[in-house]
Amino acid sequence: MARARQHMASLGVDCLLLSLGADLPWLTGYEAMALERLTMLVLAADGDATLVVPRLEAPRVAEDPAAFSVLPWSEGADPVEIVATLVGARRNLAISDRAWSIFLLRLQAALPGGSWQPSSVVTAPLRAVKDAAEIAALRRASAAADRVAVQLLAGDIPLIGRTEASVSADIGRRLLAEGHQRVNFAIVGSGPNSASPHHEPGARVIGPGEAVVCDFGGALDGYCSDITRTVVTGPPTAELVDLYGVLEQAQAAAVRAAVVGTPCEEVDGAARRPIVAAGYGDAFIHRTGHGIGLEEHEDPYLVAGNSEPLVAGHAFSVEPGIYLAGRFGARIEDIVVATPSGPEALNRADHGLHVVDAT
Ligand code: ZN
Ligand code: ZN
Ligand code: ZN
Repeated sequence: MARARQHMASLGVDCLLLSLGADLPWLTGYEAMALERLTMLVLAADGDATLVVPRLEAPRVAEDPAAFSVLPWSEGADPVEIVATLVGARRNLAISDRAWSIFLLRLQAALPGGSWQPSSVVTAPLRAVKDAAEIAALRRASAAADRVAVQLLAGDIPLIGRTEASVSADIGRRLLAEGHQRVNFAIVGSGPNSASPHHEPGARVIGPGEAVVCDFGGALDGYCSDITRTVVTGPPTAELVDLYGVLEQAQAAAVRAAVVGTPCEEVDGAARRPIVAAGYGDAFIHRTGHGIGLEEHEDPYLVAGNSEPLVAGHAFSVEPGIYLAGRFGARIEDIVVATPSGPEALNRADHGLHVVDAT
């Protein structure tokens, strides 16, 4: 909170209003329920921090009086009015990126003349730099996801004859069994669906000789995992072997490039150059990576146009992919932390193209 207040002061933000999203748990340990009753931390740059919370949810708050006070509101009270009173005369305001517009619109009416910014202006650069405890949590989450990836590569997760949806549910159960408290997603894209990066696993039955992109992650002690491995259900075609070899080189080059001081877009460039050189440039249709922490996707983004340099403590995915629309595709994704002694890959599951469930 001290760092947040300092950054607020340097940006001229005099009050931070946090509701839904990860900023609130990052600062208080409390995650607001996405309900019609308003929960909002009012954090003044020059004053106190007060968590306005529905009375019935107040028992879930772990109080930390040194950091913030708790102000429960009862049914029938107007929480917007309570927040407006706490804000007082302050008018340079920043509100959660994901606060509901119904509350924002009412706050704007109650605080005329206010200037409004998204809270990420204050919090994103701070949250992007993980401390030692956060990196340890990310390491545990990645290790748990790795154990599921190793099961996939070893052929312990049956693929042929099952639907993508069934394999996705299986992967989800394994994420929980390996220690995650929550499954965030388990993409399973087989055959032509492997060429759709965010494919929604469905009723398609996986056949022999197909590329299967599996991209999955969850949250463990609040911090997220995210890993992708592509396997093939039988001897791969020469074309897939060639494409996959290029992809492996590109992913490794991007991890090597992820050193402190390197602009984020340079890591993207390091992944893109070998893919372009091999003639697959048009088939790499997304950025190379995203930051990860309390949220699956957060700063920093490894994308063309982001010239921000990597700093020690940045944690992010490195996940190039090559997608031949309507035919097949592949992606390799690891979580990496930028450290003073170089990039540290938190995922260690093998990168090679594994033939699994061969008939
Ligand atoms: Zn994605
Ligand atoms: Zn992923
Ligand atoms: Zn990712």
